[in-house]
Amino acid sequence: MTTMYTPQDPIKQYPNPPFPPQQQDAPGDVHKMDPAPDHGEESYIGFGRLAGRKAIVTGADSGIGRAVAIAYAREGADVALSYLPEEQEQAEEVAALVEKAGRKALLYPGDLQDEATNTALVEKTVEEFGGVDILAIIAGVMPTVDSIDDFETATLDHVLKTNIYPLFWLTKAASPHFEPGASIITCSSIQGYVPSPSLAEYAVSKAGIANWTRAMAQQLAERGIRVNGVAPGPVWTPLQPSSVPNEKIEQFGSEAAYGRAGQPAELAPPFVLLASQEASYISGETIAVTGGTPTH
Ligand code: NAD
Ligand code: MG
Repeated sequence: MTTMYTPQDPIKQYPNPPFPPQQQDAPGDVHKMDPAPDHGEESYIGFGRLAGRKAIVTGADSGIGRAVAIAYAREGADVALSYLPEEQEQAEEVAALVEKAGRKALLYPGDLQDEATNTALVEKTVEEFGGVDILAIIAGVMPTVDSIDDFETATLDHVLKTNIYPLFWLTKAASPHFEPGASIITCSSIQGYVPSPSLAEYAVSKAGIANWTRAMAQQLAERGIRVNGVAPGPVWTPLQPSSVPNEKIEQFGSEAAYGRAGQPAELAPPFVLLASQEASYISGETIAVTGGTPTH
C-alpha cells in the first residue's frame, strides 16, 4: 500500500490544477471544497514524538490547523482547538479524531481579535490539561485588495488584529506556564517574502510573523523555549476559495515549481518537527514549504 511515508514522485502525489471553479464565504468549510483536501485523516500515523505534550492549535477546524491538530494528537499530545463559532461542526470532527487517537481535546470557539479570548483560551487549556507547552498559532485571514485606491483602514485592522496580535497575546498568557522545552510555532507565508500585488495587507502581516518569530526566539532563548515558524506556499484550504476569485482557484498552485498546490497534510510534518524535542537546536527559523519555489 502506498502511504505518505512511501518514497514517490511528490509532483504526482496530490491533485494538480485545473480545479473546478468554486467560491465560499469566509471562513469557509472543508466539506465544500472540490477536490476534498487531505488533512491526514486517513494517512497520518504518528510515532510518539509529542508524547504527553499539551498543545494549543489556532485555526484548528480546517486547513493547515486541522492537519496539525490531527498530527499532534497522533504524536501523543492533548490538543486545545481554537476556531470561530461558525466553524463548530468542523471543529467537532477534529475533536473526535483527537479523542480517537487516545488524547484529550478541548473545544474553544472564539474571535482571537479580542485579547480576552486569547487569555481565556490559555487559561482554559491549563485548567483542562494541567499545563501548556506547545502553541501553534495558525489562524489567519487573507483579504485581497487590488488597488491602493480601495485601501480601507478597517481591512488592515482586521488583518493585523487576526494575524499579528494573537502572537503577543497568546505568548504573554502562556509564558508563566511554560517550562524549558516548550515550543511556539507560527504560520507565515511565501507572501511574507515574495508578495503578490493584491495581498499587500496580508504580506505585511506574514513578513511580520516571520520577524516576530526571530525576535521572540531570542527573547525566550534563555528560558529554554524555542520559537519557529512555517511559511507555506499555495495550500488547498477554505482560505483560498473564500479569499481569491475563481480564475485564481482554477489555476491554484500552478505557479509553484511543482506545478501543484500543497495539501494541509504536507504542512503537518514541519509543525510536528518544530514542536518536538528533535528540533532542540532550531529556534528563530521559519521553514518554507512551497513545493520547490524559492522564498528568497
Ligand atoms: P483556513 O481557512 O482553513 O484556516 C484559517 C483559520 O483561521 C480558520 O479556520 C479560522 O478558524 C481561523 N480564524 C480566522 N479568523 C479568526 C478569528 N478572528 N478568530 C479566531 N480564528 C480565526 O485556511 P489555512 O490556509 O489553513 O490557513 C491557516 C494559516 O495558513 C493562515 O495563517 C494562512 O495565512 C496560512 N497560509 C495559508 C496558505 C494557503 O495557501 N492556504 C499559504 C500560506 C500561509
Ligand atoms: Mg476554518
